[in-house]
Amino acid sequence: MWRKVKGTLVVEAKDLKKAERGIQEAAQIIRRGGLVAFPTETVYGLGASAFSGSAVERIFRAKGRPGDNPLIVHIAEEKDLKELAAQRPPLVSLLVEKFWPGPLTLVLPRGPRVPPEVTAGLDTVAVRMPRHPVALALIRAAGLPIAAPSANRSGRPSPTTAEHVLEDLAGRIQMLLDGGPCPVGLESTVLDLTHEVPLLLRPGGVTLEQLQETLGEVHLLDPHSYKKGEAPPSPGLKYRHYAPRAPMYMVEGEPSRVVKEIKKICRENHLKGRRVGLLVTEENRSQFRADAVEVLGLRRSPEEMAARLFDSLRRLDASGVDLILAETVEETGIGLALMNRLRKAASGRTIKAR
Ligand code: AMP
Ligand code: MG
Repeated sequence: MWRKVKGTLVVEAKDLKKAERGIQEAAQIIRRGGLVAFPTETVYGLGASAFSGSAVERIFRAKGRPGDNPLIVHIAEEKDLKELAAQRPPLVSLLVEKFWPGPLTLVLPRGPRVPPEVTAGLDTVAVRMPRHPVALALIRAAGLPIAAPSANRSGRPSPTTAEHVLEDLAGRIQMLLDGGPCPVGLESTVLDLTHEVPLLLRPGGVTLEQLQETLGEVHLLDPHSYKKGEAPPSPGLKYRHYAPRAPMYMVEGEPSRVVKEIKKICRENHLKGRRVGLLVTEENRSQFRADAVEVLGLRRSPEEMAARLFDSLRRLDASGVDLILAETVEETGIGLALMNRLRKAASGRTIKAR
């Protein structure tokens, strides 16, 4: 089924076979220098030809993205790496075999065919092979690598459904392939291979534990380790992310204390006539009464919580609450990426429950 929303063509792509004609159309748009939003297993991407500087510039304009924040280039075959990276560090084969296609982005020395718009002038390029069948089919049909950041307006939570993409970009892009909700729901892991020891720039769908198991040593980026005014190791780090309109706080501590603390803050704010929104686990939901309650999922299935996070942040935003309180999770497995995004959404604001 095809429909138009404010001039953006929306094509149903949940069934790959039925989406064939739509994917061919999308590939045409990409080859002609246009913009197409498409599903990946992480979040929706906003794609353009990675070999066209002017097409890539359109991505920045549509998103309102600062020009110094580089994009990830998406490929469908390992051999396409040759056209993008000037060198192939020895660890690449190991990682590709284990994690591609999948939510792992590799930062490599930039090859000469990659226009500076893609890498924001850096001499490195970020490359990933997504696992989503629609993404792979689109890249193959276009016959080009596709540069794509997340398909949201800059500063908004990343989109994990076609509706999220339309909220932000309807009328600003030619086409959207609707593949349904994204299964991982958080952006890819970004691993920089241009150092002696691989450096984890952003935790994501592939976990630190999985990388350590494969590589042995992995350095973790401390986002505060670079000085103000100095260039951060990954440009995306310096920008405000996923920030809901209402101030958000993470409530940390022993689980029963956290519940008590959240209840107390809710009561105090209700007395002042302020509306409170909560981001909580399934286990604790029945304990709370608030103006908007978003349940991420069971604490013991952090993958489910991760997949719901961005949709929940958008809903809390839409509910118009004055304040958002969030439970925290253990920083292991996908929990590390989940806490990274929660921290960014909360701009680091934390309340210790005692
Ligand atoms: P997005 O796909 O919207 O999550 O944005 C891509 C992310 O990849 C941003 O956080 C960038 O900072 C990061 N990135 C892309 N290219 C590079 C690169 N060459 N070096 C370091 N980080 C990069
Ligand atoms: Mg993004």
